[in-house]
Amino acid sequence: MNGKHIRIAAIILTLLLVGLWGIRSAETPVSRDSGYRMLMGTLSRIVVVAPNDITAQDCLDAAFTAQHEVDRLMSYHKPDSELARLNRQADRSPIKVSDHTFTVLEEARRISALSAGAFDVTVAPLIDLWQHAADTNTPPSETEMVAAKAKVGWEHVILDPNQHTVHFTKPGMKIDLGGIAKGYAIDLSVTALKRHGALGGMIDIGGDLRCFGQPPRRKKAWTIGLQDPKRTDRFTPNQSVLALNITDQAVTTSGDYRRFGLIDGRKISHIIEPRQGRSSLSSASVTIIAPSAMTADALATAVSVMGPDQGLALIETLSETEAIVIANDGVTLTQTSGADKFILP
Ligand code: AMP
Ligand code: MG
Repeated sequence: MNGKHIRIAAIILTLLLVGLWGIRSAETPVSRDSGYRMLMGTLSRIVVVAPNDITAQDCLDAAFTAQHEVDRLMSYHKPDSELARLNRQADRSPIKVSDHTFTVLEEARRISALSAGAFDVTVAPLIDLWQHAADTNTPPSETEMVAAKAKVGWEHVILDPNQHTVHFTKPGMKIDLGGIAKGYAIDLSVTALKRHGALGGMIDIGGDLRCFGQPPRRKKAWTIGLQDPKRTDRFTPNQSVLALNITDQAVTTSGDYRRFGLIDGRKISHIIEPRQGRSSLSSASVTIIAPSAMTADALATAVSVMGPDQGLALIETLSETEAIVIANDGVTLTQTSGADKFILP
C-alpha cells in the first residue's frame, strides 16, 4: 500500500467510526444528574435523559432558570419578589401580577374551594405568628390569635382573570405560596425539559417531584422511595417505608417530620389549620400522586390539614389522583383505592 492508499483507508476508517458512533449515540441516550442545589429555601435536583450531552446540559440550564424565575416571583421572604409587593399593596388596590403568579393563585383558589378551606394560602399572618412563637419560645396570646385570624380567608382574595389583578378585601391580608409554588416550579421545569429535547426526566424540589418519559438505564419506570417519617436523622437518609413505580406522575409529600418548630419542647407543624389558627398535626406524612405537581403539592398540604378520613375521601373523588397517608403514630398506613397500582411489591 502506498501513501495514497493509506490516506484513503484512514479516511474510510474514520468515516466508519464516526458513523458507528452516530448510530451508538442515536440509540443510547445519556442521563445527567444535576446533584442538589439550594433553591426555594430547599434542595433541588434534576435528572434528565437526553439524546446527547449538549441537549442534556441545555435541558438542565432551562429547567433551573424556570425554577429561579418562580422563586424570584413567589418567594415570601425576598422583599423584592412579586408576592412581597402584593402582600404590601393588594389590600389597598388591585395589583397586576405575572401570568405565572396568577396561574398559581387560581389553582390555590380551586384547591381551597375543593378542600372547604383546609388549603388556604392566606394563612400567612398565622404562619408569621407561630414562627415568632417558635423563635421566642412563647405561645401567641389570645389577642394576637384573634388579630391574625381576622386577616385570613381565601374568599377575600379577588382575582380578575381579564386584568390579571389581585385584590385583598381585608386589611393586613398576606399570602404564602409555600404549599403550592414548589409544585408549580416542578411543572414549569418539566415543560422546559420537554421543550429543550429531553426524552425523560425527574425533578425533585424538597422531596416533591415529578417524573416523565424515559427513565435512565433502560428501566421501564422511575422508582421513588417514600421516606419513613420515623427515620429521618441525617445518618440514615434513605429509609423508605415503600417504593413507588412512577411513569408520568408527580409525587408530593407533606409531613411534620420534614419541618417543624418547638415551643416548650412541643412540636409545632409548619402546616396551619386555617379556622382554628393553630399548627395542624393530623398526619405524620401525606403523599399525593397526580398528573400535575402544582395540584399534588396543594392537595398534600390540604389532606395534611383535613386528616386521613376526610382527606382520603376527598382524593377518592378526584380522577387520576391517589393518596397514601401515614398516621401520627408514624406506622399506620391508609391509602386511596387506586394507590396500589403505584406501590412496588
Ligand atoms: P407543604 O410542605 O407543601 O405541605 O407546604 C407547607 C407550607 O405551606 C408551609 O410552610 C406554609 O408556607 C404553607 N401552609 C401552611 N399551612 C397551609 C394551609 N393550611 N394552606 C396552604 N398553605 C399552607
Ligand atoms: Mg404542598
